[in-house]
Amino acid sequence: MTHADIAIIGAGIAGASLAAMIGDRARVVLIEGESQPGYHSTGRSAAFWSESYGGPSVQPLTTASRPWLEDNGFLHPRGCVHIADAQGRPALDDLAAEMADCGVAHEWMDRAALETAIPGLRSEFTLGLTEPTCRDIDVGGLHGDFIARARRAGTNLLTDAEVTDIARADGGWRIGTRAGPVSSRIVVNAAGAWASRISALAGASAIGIQPYRRTIAQLTTDPAMAPDMPLVMDALGRFYFKPEEGGRLWLSPHDETPVEPHDVAPEELDVAIAIDRF
Ligand SMILES: Cc1cc2nc3c(=O)[nH]c(=O)nc-3n(C[C@H](O)[C@H](O)[C@H](O)COP(=O)(O)OP(=O)(O)OC[C@H]3O[C@@H](n4cnc5c(N)ncnc54)[C@H](O)[C@@H]3O)c2cc1C
Repeated sequence: MTHADIAIIGAGIAGASLAAMIGDRARVVLIEGESQPGYHSTGRSAAFWSESYGGPSVQPLTTASRPWLEDNGFLHPRGCVHIADAQGRPALDDLAAEMADCGVAHEWMDRAALETAIPGLRSEFTLGLTEPTCRDIDVGGLHGDFIARARRAGTNLLTDAEVTDIARADGGWRIGTRAGPVSSRIVVNAAGAWASRISALAGASAIGIQPYRRTIAQLTTDPAMAPDMPLVMDALGRFYFKPEEGGRLWLSPHDETPVEPHDVAPEELDVAIAIDRF
């Protein structure tokens, strides 16, 4: 039996960052079902840091995170251009108003400026909005740093330890895992897409977290995208793309498809349709 004050279930960015911050103030056990932490959403992110993304409950947190991330070297220059065709114009106006409300820097771009920034962009995209503070975020480095900080602070990381049952015991909790049982005073649910399942195992009221699938295709193009090209986002949320190392391009159809939590293996994507959009 492993004993802890606080058991955190899930070693993605949420669980790892919490363990890093509280690891020296309590006996913490970080429980991960996979053989390595960061295997699911955290390891599959498009890795951009944007102050205009996520809506009013997320945006202030993103803005507040910037000094720490920057001081510790986890943000790198990228920039973002939001683009609109005639249909997307009202959405771009709304975005500009939101950015102004939140104090996020932005500037309008005409077609000529768009052509320079995004060579080959289809002619119907005539208006753009820059978001110069948008950055690439080193997700692997950040997550690895949190895991290392947590370990240095004494956190016990259990891998291959899928949680199978949770029950009240001795005023705390007894957590059954595939790596053996854990007893803990407090349980933190950081299980990402599986959060509702974990709360159900503990007999807690449903918290109703719905997982959504987001697809990314990795492409090579001829000619290759310039490595310093900005992240390009369609104002209507139909796609985004950004250059990656080695002349590759990451393209997402910006899908949000409700799914049951599962290991999202690459699935067939109609790439031709996605590419035709830009
Ligand atoms: C394609 C894609 C692109 C994205 N792009 C961006 C982006 O550019 N910028 C951005 O900020 N965000 C992006 N995100 C979102 C971001 O990746 C997630 O918000 C973040 O990684 C969620 O972290 P998490 O720790 O909550 O979840 P996860 O990383 O999924 O961690 C949850 C962990 O819990 C573990 N777990 C689950 N059930 C159990 C169990 N029963 N027992 C033990 N362990 C369990 C899982 O194995 C997993 O490791 C993107 C997401 C996707 C999918």
